[in-house]
Amino acid sequence: MALRLYNTLTRQVEELKPIRDHKIRMYTCGPTVYDYAHIGNLRTFLFQDILRRYIRYKGFDLVQVMNITDVEDKIIARAREEGVSIGEYTKKYEKAFLVDLETLRIQPAEIMPRATEHIDVMIDLVSRLKEGGFTYERDGSTYYRIDRFNDYGKLSQLDPGDIRPSSQVDEDEYSKEDPRDFVLWKARKEGEEEWDSPFGPGRPGWHLECSAMSMKYLGESFDIHCGGVDLVFPHHENEIAQSEGATGKPFVRHWVHAAHLIVEGQKMSKSLGNFLTLRDLLDRDCNPVALRYLLASVHYRRQLNFTSDGLEQSRAAIRRVNDFVLRVREVADGVPTNEEVSERVVSARKRFEDAMDEDLNTSAALAALFELVRDVNVRLESKQVGSSNRDEILDLLQDVNQIFDVFEIEELELGDEEVARLIDEREKARHDRDYGRGDEIRDLLQEQGILLEDTGDGTRWKRRS
Ligand code: AMP
Ligand code: ZN
Repeated sequence: MALRLYNTLTRQVEELKPIRDHKIRMYTCGPTVYDYAHIGNLRTFLFQDILRRYIRYKGFDLVQVMNITDVEDKIIARAREEGVSIGEYTKKYEKAFLVDLETLRIQPAEIMPRATEHIDVMIDLVSRLKEGGFTYERDGSTYYRIDRFNDYGKLSQLDPGDIRPSSQVDEDEYSKEDPRDFVLWKARKEGEEEWDSPFGPGRPGWHLECSAMSMKYLGESFDIHCGGVDLVFPHHENEIAQSEGATGKPFVRHWVHAAHLIVEGQKMSKSLGNFLTLRDLLDRDCNPVALRYLLASVHYRRQLNFTSDGLEQSRAAIRRVNDFVLRVREVADGVPTNEEVSERVVSARKRFEDAMDEDLNTSAALAALFELVRDVNVRLESKQVGSSNRDEILDLLQDVNQIFDVFEIEELELGDEEVARLIDEREKARHDRDYGRGDEIRDLLQEQGILLEDTGDGTRWKRRS
C-alpha cells in the first residue's frame, strides 16, 4: 500500500507521491535557538523523525531541511541582556538542541541552514516580490501586501476579510497600510544586528527565512512542509504568500502539522511551573528511550498528554518487547516451523504497515506488535515456536525498530541493569516455585557469559572473563 498523509491544505488524507524523481523533499521549521527546547517542541521534531524514517522504509529517497532560527526578537533581547553577540548567544542553544536530538535518537536533517548565513537569498526573495508589486516600504521596513495575493488564507482556510491582526503587532509596525500585512524586512534599530540590503539596512522577518531557505535547498516546489499546528497561521500562510507570490508556482504539495503536547492535562507554561525541557526530565531520572516511545506512540494529529504514568507505561512497554526478544532468541536451531506462528507474523507486519500507511497511525501500529508479542509468548511457553519463526519475528522487530528505534533487538551484551533485572525476575520465579522460568533465565544469562552464584544473602553475578 502507499503512504497516505493528511494534508492541511486540502483537509484530506492523500497519497504521498514525489513531485520529482523518486525523492521526497521535506522541510521542517526548526527551533528558534533562544532557550532549551521544551518537550512540546521535541514532540513535533520526533514526529518528523518518525515520518522521515517511514518515508525511507517505504523505499523513497529523502532529503530533509531543517532551519535554525538564529536571529529573532527574543534572541536579540537576551543576547543584549548578557552583553554578547547573537552568534555567541545562540551557539550554546543550538548545540544543546543537537544534543537533545541525539538523546532522543532523532536523526538530524541532511541540511540544517542557519538564518544568519542565508541573508542573501532572503534579500533576493524580497527583491523578486518587490518586482512583482507585492511589497511596500514604511519607515525603512518592507511589508508584504496580502491583498495582492489572491490565495491568501488558503492553508488556514481563513477568509482574508475575517483575519484579525494579531494582538501582538510590534509597536514599530504601526505604519503598515493594512494591519494584516506582515513584515519581510525590518528596519535597523540602534544596537541590533543589521545587514545591508537594497531596501535599507535591517534584518529579515521570520516568515521570509523559511520561504527563502526551503526553496534554495529543495526547489521552488517541493513535497512536504511540516511543523506544529501553531505554525499554520500566520507562519505557513505567509510562507505560501511569499513563495507563490514570487514564483507563481505551487510551493508545497503536503502540509503536515502535529498537534500539541500538554503536561498532566494542562498547557505547558512557565507560570504553571510545568514547562519541561529534556534536561529537566533527565535530571529526574527519566529514561530518554521511554520518552521517545511515549512521544511516538500517540498519533501525531492527536493532542499528547504527557504524564509520569504515561512515561512509566512506556518504560514497561519497551521492557515487555525487550524481554520477548530475549525469549525468542532462546529458540534453538533445528526446531520445526510452526505455520500458525508464521501466519501471525505476516499478519502483524501487514497490520503494522497498514496502520503506518494510513496517516502514520503509530498507536495502531504498536498495538499490532503487542498483539503478536502476546500470542507468541503463549506459544513460547509451550515450546511451539520454530527456528525459522524465531528469525521471522526478529526480522519484523528489526523493521519496526528502523522507525521506532526504542527496542533492543540486536544481540547485545546485556547491560548491568538488564542483568540485575533478570536476576530479580529469576528470584521471583523461584520464590513462586516457577523453577522452569528460573532455570530458563539462568541458561539465558549463561549464554550471555554471565555467571551466577547463589549465596545465603542473594545471588551474585560476574561476567565470564
Ligand atoms: P519554536 O522553537 O518555538 O519555533 O518551535 C519549534 C517547533 O515546536 C514548531 O514546529 C512548533 O510548532 C512546535 N511546538 C511549539 N509548542 C509546541 C507544543 N506545546 N507541542 C508540540 N509542538 C510544539
Ligand atoms: Zn518556518
